[in-house]
Amino acid sequence: MNFSPLNDPEFQKYREEAHLKAGRKRRVKSLILLFTVALISLCLVALLVMTAAEAFPGLFGSHGNGNRTLPPLPPIHGSTAQKSSSGTPMLTPTPGLSIPASSTPDTSPSREIVRSTTIFVDAGHGFQSLSGVMDLGAGTDSEYTRISQEEYGKALYEADLTLAIAQKVRDILESKGYTVIMSREGYVNEYLNPTQRAQRVNASGADVSLSVHANFFSDTSVYGARVYYCDSRSDAAECRKYAEAVAKAIDSAGASRKQTNTYVDNSLAMVNGPRVPAVLVETCFITNEQDARNALTEEWQTQMATAIVNAICTQYPVQFTFK
Ligand SMILES: [Zn+2]
Repeated sequence: MNFSPLNDPEFQKYREEAHLKAGRKRRVKSLILLFTVALISLCLVALLVMTAAEAFPGLFGSHGNGNRTLPPLPPIHGSTAQKSSSGTPMLTPTPGLSIPASSTPDTSPSREIVRSTTIFVDAGHGFQSLSGVMDLGAGTDSEYTRISQEEYGKALYEADLTLAIAQKVRDILESKGYTVIMSREGYVNEYLNPTQRAQRVNASGADVSLSVHANFFSDTSVYGARVYYCDSRSDAAECRKYAEAVAKAIDSAGASRKQTNTYVDNSLAMVNGPRVPAVLVETCFITNEQDARNALTEEWQTQMATAIVNAICTQYPVQFTFK
C-alpha cells in the first residue's frame, strides 16, 4: 500500500482539528460582523429619532423638556387669565406649549403685573403739628440726639431714625416684589395728625399697614423693641398674629438685646385706624444709650428692617395680579 497522508491517522486527526478551527474562526468572524452591523443600525435609528424629535416635538409628548427653552409666552389679556383658589391669577396654557409648574409666581416680562401685595410703610412723625412746628418725634433730648450731635456733628431725632428704617423696609420689600406706599420720604411741611395718617392707609388701598417708631422713657435703663397692636378691632386676632410674627422675627434676627413682646394699645391711631392688619413697632428706646448707639449704625437699621420684612413675608406672602 502506498503511503498516503490520507491513510495516516495522525494526519486525519490534524485535518479534523484544522477543520474545526476553521469553523470556529468563521463563526467568530460572523459574530463580529453581526455585532458591528447591529451597532451601526442602532446608531442610525437613534440619530433618526433625535432628528425627528427636533423637527416634530409634538410626536414625542411635551413632558420632560430638558434644557429646551420655550419661546416667550404672549402677553395674557383678560379672558385668558384665571383666578386660582389662592387669588393669584394663573395662565391658561397656550395649546402646544407646556408651562413649567412652579410655586413661585412667573414674573417674566411677558406677564404684565398690574398689582402686587401692597404695604403702607409709615415712618413715624416728620409732619408739622397743628401749631406749625415740625414733629421730630419723642425725646428730642434723648441719648440718640446727644450721641449723634457729639459723634457725627448733627443732631438726629426719632423722625430721622424712623425714616431711615422705613426706607430700608421699603427697599427690601420692593426687592421681593411688594408694592410699597410710604407716608413720607423726608420732613413734610404739612399738618397731618395721626388720625389723618391712618386715613391715608385706607385711601391708599394697601393690604397691610406698618408704622415705624422709636420709644422713649424717663428711665434711661429701659431698652429693647416692642410691637403694638389693637385688640378692639373685629380682626384683632389677625393683628395679634401679625404683631407676634414681627416680635418673633426681631428676636430671630437678633435686632433687639432682649426678648421682644407684643402690647395692646387701642388708642394709637396707626393701629386702630387702618382697616387692614396694622402694627406699630417701637424699634428701640432712643433714651437708652446702648439702644441709641446701635440705632445710629446702618447695620442695626438693616437688621431691624430685614426682621420686619421677614415677618411680613411670612404673614402676607407677595401675590401678583396680572393684566
Ligand atoms: Zn414715635
